[in-house]
Amino acid sequence: CGFCFDCKQCVSFCPQEAITRYRDNPAGEKVYTNYAKCVGCHLCSLVCPCGYIQMGMGDGL
Ligand code: SF4
Ligand code: SF4
Repeated sequence: CGFCFDCKQCVSFCPQEAITRYRDNPAGEKVYTNYAKCVGCHLCSLVCPCGYIQMGMGDGL
């Protein structure tokens, strides 16, 4: 468990449109969070079915 399978739930639910999908990136991350837009509401981590998104405090926050 814990691997993103590109279900796009986090992208759909984010109220800030802070999450972007990486296209054609099979070896690495599938989604990217823009921390300048993110307000830390936790919705993305709550709707993710596989626990891929872990909430944490970034540097400087
Ligand atoms: S925690 Fe941030 S990235 Fe996640 S849904 Fe909320 S605003 Fe979007
Ligand atoms: S991080 Fe979770 S909710 Fe977002 S696309 Fe991947 S599996 Fe789906």
